[in-house]
Amino acid sequence: MSAGGRDNDYDIVIAGGGMIGTSLTLALAPLGLRVAVVEATARKALEQPSFDDRSTALSRSTQRMFEAMGLWDEIVAASTPIRSIHVSDQGRFGFSHIDAEEQGVEALGYVVINRVLGSVLQSAMNECEGIQVVCPARVVGVDLAPERATVVVGFDKGEQRTLSCDLLVAADGANSAVREMMGISAQKTQYGQRAVIGNLLPEKNLQHRAFERFTAQGPLAMLPVADDRAGFIWVVAEREAERVLALDDDAFLGELQEEFGYRLGAFSHAGKRASYPLTLSKAVRLTAARSVLIGNAAHGLHPVSAQGFNLGMRDVAALCDCIADSGAELNVADPGNEKLLARYADWRRSDQKKLVRFTDGLVRLFGSSRRPLRALRNVGMLGFDLIPGVRSLFAKHTMGLAGTLPRLSRGVPLK
Ligand SMILES: Cc1cc2nc3c(=O)[nH]c(=O)nc-3n(C[C@H](O)[C@H](O)[C@H](O)COP(=O)(O)OP(=O)(O)OC[C@H]3O[C@@H](n4cnc5c(N)ncnc54)[C@H](O)[C@@H]3O)c2cc1C
Repeated sequence: MSAGGRDNDYDIVIAGGGMIGTSLTLALAPLGLRVAVVEATARKALEQPSFDDRSTALSRSTQRMFEAMGLWDEIVAASTPIRSIHVSDQGRFGFSHIDAEEQGVEALGYVVINRVLGSVLQSAMNECEGIQVVCPARVVGVDLAPERATVVVGFDKGEQRTLSCDLLVAADGANSAVREMMGISAQKTQYGQRAVIGNLLPEKNLQHRAFERFTAQGPLAMLPVADDRAGFIWVVAEREAERVLALDDDAFLGELQEEFGYRLGAFSHAGKRASYPLTLSKAVRLTAARSVLIGNAAHGLHPVSAQGFNLGMRDVAALCDCIADSGAELNVADPGNEKLLARYADWRRSDQKKLVRFTDGLVRLFGSSRRPLRALRNVGMLGFDLIPGVRSLFAKHTMGLAGTLPRLSRGVPLK
């Protein structure tokens, strides 16, 4: 273990350089703090599990954040806008339609492939001064004293290095080991489902429409991506996943087509498939002494509402606001002080709770074959389109514009 010393002293150490940890690092850059990011996987976009072949729908508030961070031009050049969302329920009359124009915005969101987003974020990190990336390496131990946090980092060959910081941020994903080291437990619900993802070529162009269809197995989403292709997220029962993944391309497309129908004509040219287990996880607290949880380490959502990353980005925006304000408002330039952490936790609790409840409710409402719930969802699907308030609240959450917004989420730079 190396001794301490100036090279191991930081204002902030971020555990996890995935989509959220990297975004936080870049968002903090204008504040000129000494930041270290510890990431377990080698820094090549293709090897990073966070930056894989999934397509992510970026909400309006995430767009504004990347605008404020000066990264949006590059991201939008590699993204596809969603101008409307079409929601339907298999075998049932009625569907809902959310339209960008009706909401008074140019797009409801933008779809980007995680791998592409990862390479934009990682090249921006290479240009940043004052950031040290410790990689590949894992946080293997923490000591959270009231005045300073100590973080033990382990490398592949068994060596260790000890970092010290004012604030430790756990951004190490849904199975966060750092959260456990902080002494914070998480409530987990296994949905018994997996998301099978990939892309295909539909006969008819999506024309900037996203589709979400609730089927007997679970939700199925089609998102417009580059080259006239559609990125799909197909939620299947856990016991079905292995079989579906093992199908040859024609058989796979046939089954997917049966679930989705022919609204986009015939499907062909299936791309590579992958699958993800689906679990709801909620940390019971968001902070411990000198440490804080963000992104999936704080909340892992079902992808039905396409909101996990966007919600995590709002954690990033709120934490940055608290840190940027702490010097002036709290009269202390200490990013890990107790008041700052309490302010962050208060701010984020309600947004996270609402979205967890909303997303979990969607899974249960549309995933259930119980009669009372089926009746309710018929009303829900129709009511959804007829009651303007309901629809615009859903759209506001989808765009990430509900509640009090931190400045990055409003598109205002930190400095
Ligand atoms: C199929 C699917 C589709 C989705 N679609 C959308 C969507 O359309 N819109 C949306 O908003 N969200 C979506 N999400 C959710 C989104 O992908 C996640 O919320 C997001 O990736 C979380 O990022 P994260 O950085 O918090 O965690 P992760 O992506 O899990 O990253 C954690 C990082 O920490 C590293 N790490 C782990 N342990 C350690 C350690 N001990 N020390 C150091 N580093 C460590 C890992 O290597 C990894 O790089 C989807 C999710 C799935 C499964």
